[in-house]
Amino acid sequence: MLPTLFPNGLKKAFTLSYDDGCYDDLKLIELMKTYQVRGTFNVSSGITRAEGTEPTGHWERMTKSERKAYNQDFIEVAVHGETHRDFTKITEPELVYEIMADKAALEKEFGGVTRGAAYPYGSFNDLSVEILKRCGIKYCRTVWSDYSLNMPTDWLRLRPTAHHDDPKLPEIIETFLNEEPKQPRMLYIWGHAPEFKLHGNWEMMEEYLKKLSGLEDVWYATNIEICEYDLAAKALEYSADGKCVYNPTAKTVWLGKFGETVTVAPGETVKL
Ligand SMILES: [Zn+2]
Repeated sequence: MLPTLFPNGLKKAFTLSYDDGCYDDLKLIELMKTYQVRGTFNVSSGITRAEGTEPTGHWERMTKSERKAYNQDFIEVAVHGETHRDFTKITEPELVYEIMADKAALEKEFGGVTRGAAYPYGSFNDLSVEILKRCGIKYCRTVWSDYSLNMPTDWLRLRPTAHHDDPKLPEIIETFLNEEPKQPRMLYIWGHAPEFKLHGNWEMMEEYLKKLSGLEDVWYATNIEICEYDLAAKALEYSADGKCVYNPTAKTVWLGKFGETVTVAPGETVKL
C-alpha cells in the first residue's frame, strides 16, 4: 500500500463547517469568497425567519430568499435536522423524519443529492449513526474537538479539529501551516456565525482565513469533497503482493510513491 495523497498530490486540506442557517452566515460567505476557501453550512430547512422581517435577535435565521446565498460552488449545504431536534431525544420514526425531511427540503431548495450532516446540539448515539447511514448520509459532524490534524477514522462520528473560539486553535493553525506532513492532514474549523458578533471577533476569523488562503500546498474543499475522497481512497483494492492497485470508485485517487505521485483513475488497475 502506498500513502494516500489528496487530489493533485497535496497533503493538506482545509475546510469549514457552520451551523443553523443563521443570518450572519451571509457575512461568512463573503469572507469565504474573498479568501477563496470552501466549506459547509448545516441548515435546519424548517426554521426560517419570516420574509420581509429584519434580523433583530442574536441568533436570527435567514429567510428562505436570503438562503439563496448558499447557492455557490464553494459551498456545500448539509442536513442539520429539519427542526433542529436533539437526535437522542426523539423516537426512531421522528429521527428518520428529521433527517429525511431536511434532506428532501434542502435538495428541493439547492438541487443535487445532499449527503452530509451535522448533529443538532452535537448529540448522537449508535441509533442516530445507523439511521443516518440508512438515509444516505456519508458523514455527520459532532462538536467534540479532536485537536489533531489527522484524517477522521469514523466519518459518521466526525470530530472537528477545533471550534473557531478555541484558544488552542492558533497553535494548531501554525502547525498546519508549517509542518511537512508525511500523511494527509486536515484542518477542520467549525462554529456558528452569530458567535462572531456575540464575542466581537469577526476580525479574528478574517485573520485566520487570510493566513490560510492562497496556499499552493493546501486543498480547499467542502466537507463532503474531503469525506468522499477519503472513502474512495479507502476503497482501493490491492493485489496480494501489494504491487498492483485497482480503483473501483468514480473518483481519481492520488498516491505517494518515493516522492512521486501515482494516480489511479476510476475503474483503473495500476502497477506500483
Ligand atoms: Zn445547531
